[in-house]
Amino acid sequence: MNIILLGAPGAGKGTQAEVICDRLNIPAISTGNIIREALKSGTEMGQKAKSFMDAGALVPDEVVIGIIKERLALSDCENGFILDGFPRTIPQAEALDSMGVKIDKVISIEVSDDKIIKRMSGRRVCEKCGASYHLEYKAPTQEGTCDKCAGTLIQRKDDHPDTVKARLDVFHTETEPLKSYYEKQGKLSLVEGQEKVEDTTALLLKQLEA
Ligand code: ADP
Ligand code: ZN
Repeated sequence: MNIILLGAPGAGKGTQAEVICDRLNIPAISTGNIIREALKSGTEMGQKAKSFMDAGALVPDEVVIGIIKERLALSDCENGFILDGFPRTIPQAEALDSMGVKIDKVISIEVSDDKIIKRMSGRRVCEKCGASYHLEYKAPTQEGTCDKCAGTLIQRKDDHPDTVKARLDVFHTETEPLKSYYEKQGKLSLVEGQEKVEDTTALLLKQLEA
């Protein structure tokens, strides 16, 4: 099954993508994580993306489309994949369609802006493997340490409150129109984001089985 997860920054796409990945045994592909990896290893693409990312703006379409093309060509995508954070604009969705990538389901995780702003302050990510945590909703077993790889948990620069507001604006203008794009294709389902991660997961899995 080829799945797209839509949602505001901080709506829990990444966390849910990891859960579905384990359940369905298909890779979770996060353009944000791929870009952060490129940044860490100092590639030219990473350098180009940095200023956009730090400002809470979107990285140009041609850059992320290139990333996704390469990633979807790898053999682990043969039995399906979950896209987390791609597409984020109409041209990105059109690029997927014109590449001939068939999407089965698009799930939008719905969370209000107020809640997003509250949530983001507690968000932490693993410096090493990119796994996401939350001080309140998804705390690691040991404070400050990743459960998966024992890496150090840090707060992302773009999770600063001012940047979060900028990212929410971008979400509403650039990304939200994708809901009607996929609704027209008959692929869209909405899942109301819950306080507890497990509760959102349960709703999401129900949608995937439907
Ligand atoms: P979140 O979902 O919390 O906003 P991501 O890790 O998905 O975080 O993305 C972080 C940043 O990476 C975005 O703010 C943007 O700058 C860049 N980015 C990730 N995916 C895309 C994309 N599909 N198009 C453009 N920029 C992207
Ligand atoms: Zn880790």
